[in-house]
Amino acid sequence: PPCSQVVNYAPFTLLPSAVPRALFEQAYAVQQDFNLLVDAVSQNRAFLEQTLASTIKVDDFTARLFSIYTQVLEEGLAQTVFLGINRSDYMFDCGLHGTAALRQIEINTIAASFGGLTSHTTDVHRLVLKVLGKSEEASRLVPNNPAKGLASGIAKAWELYGSPRAVVMFLVEEVQRNIFDQRCVENELWNRNIRVVRRTFRDVFERGSLDGSRRLHMDGQEVAVVYYREGYVPQVYNQQNWEARLLLERSRAVKCPDIATQLAGTKKVQQELSRPGTLEKLLPGQPEAVARIRATFAGLYSLDKGEEGDRMTARAIADPDRFVLKPQREGGGNNLYGEELKEVLEKIKDSPERTSYILMDKIKPQPALNYLLRAHSPLQVSECISELGIFGVYVRQGQELVLSQAAGHLLRTKAVEHADGGVAAGVAVLDTPFLV
Ligand code: ADP
Ligand code: MG
Repeated sequence: PPCSQVVNYAPFTLLPSAVPRALFEQAYAVQQDFNLLVDAVSQNRAFLEQTLASTIKVDDFTARLFSIYTQVLEEGLAQTVFLGINRSDYMFDCGLHGTAALRQIEINTIAASFGGLTSHTTDVHRLVLKVLGKSEEASRLVPNNPAKGLASGIAKAWELYGSPRAVVMFLVEEVQRNIFDQRCVENELWNRNIRVVRRTFRDVFERGSLDGSRRLHMDGQEVAVVYYREGYVPQVYNQQNWEARLLLERSRAVKCPDIATQLAGTKKVQQELSRPGTLEKLLPGQPEAVARIRATFAGLYSLDKGEEGDRMTARAIADPDRFVLKPQREGGGNNLYGEELKEVLEKIKDSPERTSYILMDKIKPQPALNYLLRAHSPLQVSECISELGIFGVYVRQGQELVLSQAAGHLLRTKAVEHADGGVAAGVAVLDTPFLV
């Protein structure tokens, strides 16, 4: 229930899951490149316009975000400090010869969650291993504290904003199901003597305002940083909430992310990034970064009108188990697989609606056994697969990148029978990598 006096424990695996050390290190090594890439895309109006042109004709939500984006650009940005917190998610694709490869599933540029709770999962698994008499293995678990890393980025942005009395505002859901994850990050900020308030879009609509230099004020306090943990699904936006979003975007406050960076995280952008030559154009003179990024890409295909889209649609209908069909949505549970993918594609193959989706090769990890512990669920051993996320944090002031780092990791594990869905969707559970 929407009440913080009644809580469930966050779901977790009983045991840590094996993760190939080389792939874990590869994921960390490419994170700063992804920070740079997302930041570059967010500043490239021509690229965003071109890439999203077909999508916004058929997808109202993306179109609405895009119209705020163009509106704030035309007014001229008041914001001068930029803060990105992202999480790049991967699975370990099991190749023909049994060697696993790191494959990016997506990069989340808004409300990337579980950095807080997962700062404690290593302790849980260390304890479990000790109870099992595995102290040596327990000592090998990699320390992990994304809450601290994310807070250090927020703190840097707050400091550069330059008003010591201004607060950090967490923009949160009306019904707060994952509040303790956010509190871990919040507490790190209070430890640095930075004041944090939690507000909803409705609060902003009712009580937020901009002054003459577009400084954002809430309840009589100036806001330096707006950290969105909400705002990535269409259902939360009524007319008032869209107005609140526009007000925030027009303000001088550091938005994490700004609307451009949210758009940089769409599935359509991800698909266009995989087109030959695109990374080179976005990151000129950085061939090593380009190569590291590209090495993590799975096959991604446009379904736009035209020869490529027609060909890929036909291939996916003929062989649906090889692919995943993705709309421009976040939060889990939106993708289509197998028979359902086939049915939907057959229905929309000749309609403009097709362009609201992208197609992706399906990644097939090697399953392993584990116990998934979830409140009110019976305990049983399950065949599981895992998804590794690396948190990235960066801060830019004007054109100067003043901070860019990998801020920790998240391992989520789910039973193989679920094709889709994260922890919030009730499918995956928190895990800790055991490097092998
Ligand atoms: P969302 O924005 O909804 O989180 P994702 O692209 O992360 O969308 O997909 C949701 C889930 O679907 C992932 O966590 C993963 O379990 C599964 N999934 C997504 N893409 C693939 C893929 N290419 N191969 C296998 N599973 C995938
Ligand atoms: Mg995801």
